[in-house]
Amino acid sequence: MSHPIPFFKQVDRYFERAARFTDLPAGLLTQIKNCNAVYQVSFPVERDDGSIQVIRGWRAAHSTHKLPVKGGIRLTMMASEDEVTALAALMTFKCALVNIPYGGAKGAIQVEKREYSQRELERIMRRYTFELIQKNFIGPGVDVPGPDMGVGAQEIGWMVDTYMALVPGSVNVSGCITGKPLALGGIRGRVEATGRGVFFGIREAVGVPEDIEALGLTPGLEGKRVVVQGLGNVGYYACRFLQEEGAVVVGVAEREGAIHDPDGIDVDALLTHREAGESILDFPARTHMERSLDGLELECDILIPAALENQITEENADRIQARIVAEGANGPVTVEAHDILARRGVLMLPDVYLNAGGVTVSYFEWLKNLSNVRFGRMNNRFEASSNSRILQAVESLTGKEFAPGVRESVEVGAKEGDLVDSGLEDTMVEGFHEIREVARREGTDLRTAAYLTSLLKVADTYGERGIFP
Ligand code: GLU
Repeated sequence: MSHPIPFFKQVDRYFERAARFTDLPAGLLTQIKNCNAVYQVSFPVERDDGSIQVIRGWRAAHSTHKLPVKGGIRLTMMASEDEVTALAALMTFKCALVNIPYGGAKGAIQVEKREYSQRELERIMRRYTFELIQKNFIGPGVDVPGPDMGVGAQEIGWMVDTYMALVPGSVNVSGCITGKPLALGGIRGRVEATGRGVFFGIREAVGVPEDIEALGLTPGLEGKRVVVQGLGNVGYYACRFLQEEGAVVVGVAEREGAIHDPDGIDVDALLTHREAGESILDFPARTHMERSLDGLELECDILIPAALENQITEENADRIQARIVAEGANGPVTVEAHDILARRGVLMLPDVYLNAGGVTVSYFEWLKNLSNVRFGRMNNRFEASSNSRILQAVESLTGKEFAPGVRESVEVGAKEGDLVDSGLEDTMVEGFHEIREVARREGTDLRTAAYLTSLLKVADTYGERGIFP
């Protein structure tokens, strides 16, 4: 589907709205919003049948106010310079917002992933990495790619292996990319990070009684009806965590259509069904819809677009029934749709905040790679034994023993996964309250507040560097 307004222009509009709340010089604002560099590359790949296919790819480095730049790589036929540039800009604002010391970047390879064998995909990823190395668009201190649509641990594994082979001799080498398999320097919790972050963001938003009651809803997640578009990494994990806290997933939209069941859909069973190659239209549910986009219009409290950009547009915004739109994807709501939803009093949790959990945990992974030590390795056992000593001291002071089970739950030290989850939760909780405060102070919506918060932070960095007054 084509964008009514090019994607980068949309990001630009959101930026301009936020910029009006500042008195920053026009030149500085232009520097913050413009894209620093875009590398477009064409490279040949041998197909399994021996033929040669030429493939296009991009890497955009939006802002170098901090280095390295960071952002995922996606495999999609929809890839274009406009798309990667816009997505790179979103990365800049996302990282600044949640205090992650990176500029924004994004990469894309224009392929329909399903049409390639594993061996072909491996050749594509390795060759793309080679091209990035040639132009210094990858490296622990310059540009750190990560996962995005169609790119997971397997593809990242090929990329890091290629980088290690071609750029030997550095102790930081595995920090050249994130989303790696554990054995290659990956981190626990990265796979579910974006979805978990989406969950934390929604939990915070529905936890503020005055905001939620104003939407005609009751505070808390219990019983909230959720519809998700996209049962990929982001959508699936967000739903799983929401379900665990009492929300009910009543609708799921995927490429082939959408399903609705007011009694709830078991997303785990649905994922297993889909992974076996089945269509969601064959999954038991009350209603089945052939048109995927119809899923967005289902009756619910929280709608999570977690697939592509440009899904809620001026065409369907009036028919969205959700009171909260939680943007798991990047750019799912166009500027025109934003205005319609805002006018209708819908609470939008903007992408630049809500899906920041992925890059947050990527940042933790990169820190792990730079230090070459697993989080928790030094202190896990020490914490467990000092907790044990505290329990013993309390027992000897009181002359009483703790009930069974108490010791086991307290005599523990933090492991890598626990620390990652804790850092992620802290980031998402702080981020939400920060943008909420700005929105209240300025009398604006959360998206404008998020852009405003971000651009002020980027401006500060330029100021500290002495580049702009
Ligand atoms: N693809 C993720 C995003 O859009 C970030 C990837 C990364 O960890 O760098 O936020």
